[in-house]
Amino acid sequence: MPGCQQAFVAGVAAGAHYEELPLGRRYSVYNRQFVRCLVRILLLSDIHSNLEALEACLSAAPAYDRVVNLGDVVGYGGSPNEVIDRAKQLGNYFVRGNHDKAAAGLMELSDFNPIAGMAALWTQRQLTPENLEWLRTLPQGPIRFPDVPDVQFVHGSPIDEDDYVVTLRDALEPLMAFSVTLTFFGHTHLQGGFSLNEKASDTFRPAYRTVGQAEFCNWRLAKDHHYLINPGSVGQPRDGDWRAAFAVFDSDALAVTFHRTPYNLKSAQDRILDANLPQRLASRLAAGR
Ligand code: ZN
Repeated sequence: MPGCQQAFVAGVAAGAHYEELPLGRRYSVYNRQFVRCLVRILLLSDIHSNLEALEACLSAAPAYDRVVNLGDVVGYGGSPNEVIDRAKQLGNYFVRGNHDKAAAGLMELSDFNPIAGMAALWTQRQLTPENLEWLRTLPQGPIRFPDVPDVQFVHGSPIDEDDYVVTLRDALEPLMAFSVTLTFFGHTHLQGGFSLNEKASDTFRPAYRTVGQAEFCNWRLAKDHHYLINPGSVGQPRDGDWRAAFAVFDSDALAVTFHRTPYNLKSAQDRILDANLPQRLASRLAAGR
């Protein structure tokens, strides 16, 4: 199969096997007899310098082949260098977010509220020269991969990287504007998605049973729909659920699994307070707002 003869190809016939790697993840191994593309993508977005939330998500994540980061690695939280160092270890698939641009000095802070602007300036002062340069060179979305056709990755919207897609109404224009059937986005910090086909449009919000335990929720996708899907925010959720959010896309099953996982909230809050960042940035993490 063209485009599949590479590291992310998995054997799925009898005789295919999986290899346990030191990270504890099960990675697919190529089987020469019979192959098809099988890519499980761990989607992380809006980590916002929250190291505790990032580590919790990585611990809770099921097996995956690739990590894609949908932007706003930094901003708001107290661990910018630690989070960038950890994020770099996960691979090279990133799109930049508005907070990444702000901390890198690539945009004016006049669009930010005073608290976000203060956090961006603080972040800029903390960053090592290497991490500042790394932030400056993050690509603007959309990005795509040859072995996962018909899927694109952006921060805000495929139309404008800084647009917010909050409601179904916001989603309709980008859903109609692109031939790509599946777009993963971040920026709103709201986990869920939007779908459109010739007959109907709809909103999907994952439903969870608890507010304190690790949980997941599956969303099977249909072939005749277009989708905009947000894995939620790792480091600063705003949907009323304090737990760190992420998602896994399985290109073979054509399904997205949304996850929520508790994390060491107190430690993340202490880092914000110890840095003399605004108290509100710590208190909002507990409220998920
Ligand atoms: Zn964000």
